[in-house]
This record gives sequence, C-alpha cells and structure tokens, in this order.
Amino acid sequence: MQHRFVIVGYGTMGFTHTRNLTALGIEVAGIVDIDPVARDEAAEAGLHVYPDLDAACADDTADVLFICTPNEVHRPIALAGLAAGKHVVTEKPAMLGSAEIEEVMAAAEAADRRFIVHQNRRWDEDYLVMKEMFEARTIGEVTFIETRVDGSRGIPGDWRRDPERGGGMVLDWGVHLVDRLLLMVPAPVRTVYARLSYALGAPVEDGFTIYLTFANGVEALAACTTDNYAPRPKFHMTGRRGTATVDDWEMHGKVVRRVEDVEPDAKPIVAGKGMTKTMAPRIVDYGKLAKVQDNVEVLPLPRVESDINDFYRNVIAAIEGTAEPAVTTPSVLRCMRVLEAARRSHEQDVVVDLSGTDTYLAS
Ligand code: NAD
Repeated sequence: MQHRFVIVGYGTMGFTHTRNLTALGIEVAGIVDIDPVARDEAAEAGLHVYPDLDAACADDTADVLFICTPNEVHRPIALAGLAAGKHVVTEKPAMLGSAEIEEVMAAAEAADRRFIVHQNRRWDEDYLVMKEMFEARTIGEVTFIETRVDGSRGIPGDWRRDPERGGGMVLDWGVHLVDRLLLMVPAPVRTVYARLSYALGAPVEDGFTIYLTFANGVEALAACTTDNYAPRPKFHMTGRRGTATVDDWEMHGKVVRRVEDVEPDAKPIVAGKGMTKTMAPRIVDYGKLAKVQDNVEVLPLPRVESDINDFYRNVIAAIEGTAEPAVTTPSVLRCMRVLEAARRSHEQDVVVDLSGTDTYLAS
C-alpha cells in the first residue's frame, strides 16, 4: 500500500520531513498550518494545503499524520489524528509530560494505530560510536559517561522561551541526551540529581546538568548550555582501561587505552607551582623532539555508518506490521519520567530515588 503523510506544522521540521519523505518516494498528501505565511510557502512549493486539521483528518487517502508543530499542541493533534484512524508520528518531545504520553499511548492502542516519536538523535554517529564501544568494552568496563551539547546563542525563537508551550532545554535537548543514556546503559536508573540553569533570565531553563546513577553501578551526566562559547566534548566516557571522547559534531575525538596491565609507579613531575605523581600526563608532546606515550595507546575513534532515512523506513515497516518501531513509546515515556524526576530534583534540591520504579528498555 502506498502511504500518504500529512505534515502538520510546516516550519523548520515540517519542511525537513517533507523534503526527506519526498526524496524517499514517500508521498506527502499535504500540509496543515495555522500560519498563512507557512501555508503560502507550502503552496509555492507545490504542496497541497488543507484548510485545517479537520480537513486533513477527513482525507481518506492519507493515513499518517506527522506532527511538526510547537510542543504544546502535539497532544490534541495526535488525539484528533488517532480518532480519525490515522497513524501518528510526532516530533520530539513527544508530549509535554508523561501523563500526556500515557493518554496518547492509550488512544493509539484503542484505535489500533501506531504512535511513533522522531527521536532522530538515536541515529547520530557520536552516540552510536560510544554505544558500540560501551558494548564491546573497548576501554574496559565503562564506569562514567558524560554527554553534552554546548551552545552560545541563547534560547532561539518564540515558543521555545514559553513554559506554557513546552519551551526550555529539558524538553528540547534533555529528551535526546537522556534518551540515549537510557538506551546505552543496560540497567534501571537508581537516582537522579539535576540543576537547571536560568542564567539568561528567560522564563524557561536555558540549560541543565542531570546526574544519573544506574543500578549496575554506571554513572552518567547529561548537560546542555546555551551561554557557553567554548564547547566541551559531546561525549567523554571512562572505562577501567581507558577513556574515549567525541569532541564535536565533526567526530573529532580519540580513544586512549592503557597497554600493560601492570603500571610502573608514576614519577613525580613539575606541574604548575608544585609537584605531582597522580596528575602526571600520560602523553607528553615535546614537539619535534618526541612524543612520549606512557603505557597508553592512542587510537582513532571507530566509525559507525548510519542513515536517518532508516527512521522513515521503520515507520512504514511498523505501520505495515513487518517491524517493531525502532523508537518505542514505552522508551519515550521512560525518558520523560526521568526528565520529570530531574525537574523535581532541581525544584526541591533533592536526589530523586527511582529504585524499583524504573525499568531498562532496549529500544
Ligand atoms: P517552527 O516554529 O519552525 O515550526 C512550527 C510550525 O507549526 C509553524 O509553521 C507554525 O505556524 C505551525 N503551527 C503552530 N501551531 C499549529 C497548529 N495548532 N496547527 C498547525 N500548525 C501549527 O518549529 P520547529 O523548529 O520546526 O519545531 C517543531 C517541532 O519539531 C517541535 O516539537 C520541536 O521540538 C521539534 N524539533 C525537532 C528537532 C529534531 O531534531 N528532532 C529539531 C528541531 C525541532
């Protein structure tokens, strides 16, 4: 069967999905947008423009709604689509909170339709490379994972600054960074501690630091800033035999791994205005003279091929019943609950204990 998508919200992501679906030969039946400028742009691009959501829902030739609107209307649009018998794909964050996700999951189940969330950053190479090394124990058993996005341009746009519209960085980037940590560490979350940042004076958080401990002993930190002019590595992962970093979007980074099991006692070196053995660097670059690597090897990052078009292909396969969704709604719900625990942790300045309530999910 030829599937036909309705794009609801023809802004940045609506345009992007229209382009990607069309390139894959998947038909876009038309778009819905409340903004006449967006509607004109779509019409100029040769797209059918529905007068409103009801008209799109009444179009029997279209079977999927792809919701690309600001966050606060994901829920009503999803419910309307499911009631009309459409499958629903939503941009992240799926909904504003876990109660809304549960409501839409129940509606999808009752309607026997798919509800799938575009967690596209599960296909990003930095994450896939780190996950692969985690599983292969390339740097030994992993003990700590730090993952960050650092920006310096503040909170962009209008609705992203509005708490009523699902603004703020927790729903913007938390849903990516924490989602990936939860998939990577095969264990339930034990505790959550978080600080949200309001350094820019906006009514929503402009950044966050979320600290997770897992039942298998792994610890992780997910952080996001929008006032940071010197970005830190996107991933920094420590294991019992080494450390791996992804420094930037271009996949610069390295794996530094201990060679011999038995370490000679470190020699004290001059560092700053003092001496240290503990902090003596492993790698000392003497320029033209030599580069000394003390019981470590430095390896390039492994590379992992990925194709974001697999997301769309999987949506089609899931609708047709030939594959399970690559992004399951229980995993999206799990992530939202952890993010809600993070917000609670910030507001009450407490460590939130999720022992016994969180369950690991692989996809
Ligand atoms: P945007 O502001 O560029 O576009 C949103 C569009 O939705 C606008 O054209 C607006 O007029 C329209 N709209 C608003 N309310 C509507 C309604 N009730 N019915 C129909 N149309 C409506 O926003 P964006 O940057 O494209 O973000 C849209 C969604 O995509 C958000 O949920 C955001 O979190 C998500 N997003 C995801 C990624 C990702 O990488 N997965 C990246 C950016 C944004």
